[in-house]
Amino acid sequence: MNYHKKSVRDIDVSGKKVFLRCDFNVPLDDNGQITDDIRIRGALPTIRYLLEQGAAIILCSHLGRPKGKVVPKLSLKPVAQALEEFLNIKVPMAEDINGPIAQMMANGIRPGQVMLLENIRFRPEEEANDPDFAKSLAALADIYVNDAFGTAHRAHASTAGIADYLPAVCGFLIEKEITTMGKAMENPEHPFVAILGGSKVSEKLKLIEKLLVEHCDTVLVLGAMSYTFRKALGGSIGNSLCEDSMVEEMGQLMERAKDMGCNLLLPVDNVVADKFDNDADIKVVPAGQIPDGYMGMDIGPATAEIYSRIIESARTVVWNGPAGVFEMPNFAHGTQAIATAVAKVKGVSIIGGGDSAAAIDSMGFSRHVTHISTGGGASLEFLQGMELPGIACLDDAE
Ligand code: AMP
Repeated sequence: MNYHKKSVRDIDVSGKKVFLRCDFNVPLDDNGQITDDIRIRGALPTIRYLLEQGAAIILCSHLGRPKGKVVPKLSLKPVAQALEEFLNIKVPMAEDINGPIAQMMANGIRPGQVMLLENIRFRPEEEANDPDFAKSLAALADIYVNDAFGTAHRAHASTAGIADYLPAVCGFLIEKEITTMGKAMENPEHPFVAILGGSKVSEKLKLIEKLLVEHCDTVLVLGAMSYTFRKALGGSIGNSLCEDSMVEEMGQLMERAKDMGCNLLLPVDNVVADKFDNDADIKVVPAGQIPDGYMGMDIGPATAEIYSRIIESARTVVWNGPAGVFEMPNFAHGTQAIATAVAKVKGVSIIGGGDSAAAIDSMGFSRHVTHISTGGGASLEFLQGMELPGIACLDDAE
């Protein structure tokens, strides 16, 4: 995968119409109010830069999963309103996306003006990456800018297909994603420590393999997936989550890591509970000695200490996936300890989106890490070395 792509800085946008694909997939409450506008705020630097450079902008995003149908409660109208407040200019919306109204509005916008297309996933052609649909979107503008990293692993009409018809570059959000994560993968400073948690080892297997083979000095395993590894070593894991079909493969993976001189570490102790409940009967036990009737819910204090020491002395850290059931306060201590250690890293620290990003954010550590990826699935695929269609389609930097 080529990480060196042209950005908005590399082209002249003055007097041009820019089709800007953003990720305005924001959470809404029952009254249609936006409950977290971080994604909208994240898009503002690229929008403001383009406006300052004298471009007119046709904004585009999806919201939720309307599956190709018009679902009124997934309208981007609240986003248009929020943008008006942030930018202090009118943000009219084209409800027909690529129809005559959108065409007329796109024809009429002038430098410094903005319009927004309605939820692009109201149209089935979007996710089907229909070439005629992509072409009709391209006809609205002169330049395509992709700044939606969260959907860059999808080959849809507005994330990839449109780039067949226009000069295509990235915005500041994607630029930061690919330069920071690309550098960590191409040329990391060592020691390079990966912290991998979350629920399913099957979803992270490729990433673990890639990190082991190519980059990492140490892989710290945590979260629910650690019990599948532990079972492979013959430990008792009680009722903990386990992917039985993966146990044998995990045993082989640990052998391979040993042969390659990579430390693949498992938790040494666990916080366990007699039910999946914050108010369960809770105790700390050595890993692999979880009594019957109990399940592993978090890493224990000894693991948190060992892992923290390793993390703090790293020069490159990639973290994806929580240490335990961090949504319940009694099982959030492990994830909090990891977040604290990651925030102390002196080199490069990359948070691979999703739950780990939420943990870092909720503890107020966002400013202490190098990069928080805006896309969970996309960052996993990126770090695995997979080609992301929304980035591959952009023009290569010279
Ligand atoms: P993922 O979506 O794969 O990143 O996994 C995140 C989810 O894994 C979170 O909702 C956590 O609550 C959950 N999780 C982490 N550790 C455990 C555990 N020991 N048992 C059950 N679920 C867990």
